[in-house]
Formats: sequence, structure tokens, C-alpha cells
Amino acid sequence: LLEVAGLHKAYGDHVVLDGVDLSVDAGQVVALIGPSGSGKTTVLRSLNGLERPDGGTVRIGEVAVDFGARQDRAAEDRLRRQSAMVFQQHNLFPHLTVLQNVIEGPVRVQGRPRDEAVAEARALLDRVGLAAREDASPLRLSGGQQQRVGIVRALALRPRLLLFDEPTSALDPELVGEVLGVIKELAQQGWTMLIVTHELAFARDVADDVVFLDGGRIVERGPAGVVLREPREERTRQFVERLL
Ligand code: ATP
Repeated sequence: LLEVAGLHKAYGDHVVLDGVDLSVDAGQVVALIGPSGSGKTTVLRSLNGLERPDGGTVRIGEVAVDFGARQDRAAEDRLRRQSAMVFQQHNLFPHLTVLQNVIEGPVRVQGRPRDEAVAEARALLDRVGLAAREDASPLRLSGGQQQRVGIVRALALRPRLLLFDEPTSALDPELVGEVLGVIKELAQQGWTMLIVTHELAFARDVADDVVFLDGGRIVERGPAGVVLREPREERTRQFVERLL
């Protein structure tokens, strides 16, 4: 479903992505791990149009963009709409209710009928146990509830690919489990997901494959059990041993 080849990004002299190749099959869950500053977030942001790579190609489903060629804004917009991102901080609008936050994208950006968007939003909120809170302000919710709304907001866009950027790293430890539980259910339902995470135990539990990124390059990729238990590369082993 996702095919990334030769992705390159630099800020001035600082090369952040140095030729990243990455693929994710439909229904697959891939965890992207690596040290701070290795470029994990930049990979996700490049897939979702929040960052523009200097070179390389990205294909999601039938939509492909060559960032080395002359800019094609229409194609980049189409590419952006193939995925939805769940951020470290949920970024909910504080002046809107939970339900309004969820239907904002479908109605305003995608132009879908409001009734249909509301019905779908309610069903999604119900699935994460928040049906009763649709009229609440996000400010009245716990961090874990806010992040579950953030996930529902991404699902409501009906993306083909879900991107998670350290979805639990801003949460108090006792709230991490409820959010990881929702992500695990999505994995079981067959969603295609690319997850940046420092939670290696979680990665081992839900990811099919783990990708280790260091210095803007992919050092190693393999089944989660293999990469996290007996990695081939020394750099991966040192990283994993420190975190697990
Ligand atoms: P972390 O685990 O700390 O979130 P990461 O692996 O996600 O790290 P990135 O956030 O992708 O890493 O950042 C990679 C590098 O790019 C870092 O050195 C960062 O300082 C740099 N960087 C990111 N965004 C910008 C920017 N807008 N301008 C300049 N440098 C940037």
C-alpha cells in the first residue's frame, strides 16, 4: 500500500533523511523506532504533506509523487489525503466540542454531508468508549480520552494509511494503556499503520515489522520478534537493549 523510495530531506547542511526506502503492505502494522533526531517524525510528516522532501518518491495506493521532479501540487494534495496522522499532542480545537472536532475534517475539508459525518463520528466515538462525551469540550477530558478523540478524528477522514507519531509519549503513565489498547484494536481490524514509538514492548505486541532508523537511514527491518530480540545490526542491538 505504501512505497517510499530514496526519500531525502535536509535543512541547510543538516541531512535528516538520507535515502529512506520503506514499504508497508495493506493491513500491515509497521513500527518505526530509532534514537532521538534520527528522522522518524520527518518520515511521517513527509508522507502526510506536513514536510516536503527534497527528493525521492512516495506512493500510497494509486497515488504517487516524485519529489525530485517539478512540483505537482494537485498530486501532492491527493497524496496527502491518502493518510491521516495522530500526533503526540492531540491538537484538538479547544473551542469546539468533541463531535465538532471529529466532523471538522470530513465536512469542511472533504465536503461530505454533515448528517453522514455525524452518524459516522458517533459510531467511531462509541467504538473508543466516548459516545457519552460528544458534547464535551476537549478541555474537560483526560489526556487519554483526548488522544482517543485524536484517533477517531483521524479515522473519520477514512484514510488508507494511519500514521502515529509517538501517540503516548505526552501521556501520564497510567493513561498510556487505554490509548495503546485502541491502537491494538485498530490493528486487529486490519488497518494499515505506520507507528513511530518508543514503547518497544508495545511494538513487539502489535507490529508485524519493526524498522530501525538511525542518522536518516534505515539500518534494519524485520519481524518485530526478530529485530527486538535478536537484531542483526550492532547499532540496533545497543538501542534496543537500552530501551527494553
Ligand atoms: P524524536 O524521537 O526526538 O522525535 P525523530 O527521530 O522524530 O526524533 P525528527 O523530529 O524527524 O527526529 O528530526 C530529525 C532532525 O531534523 C533533528 O535533528 C531535528 O533537529 C531536525 N529538524 C526537524 N525539523 C526541523 C526544522 N523545521 N528545521 C531544522 N531542523 C529540523
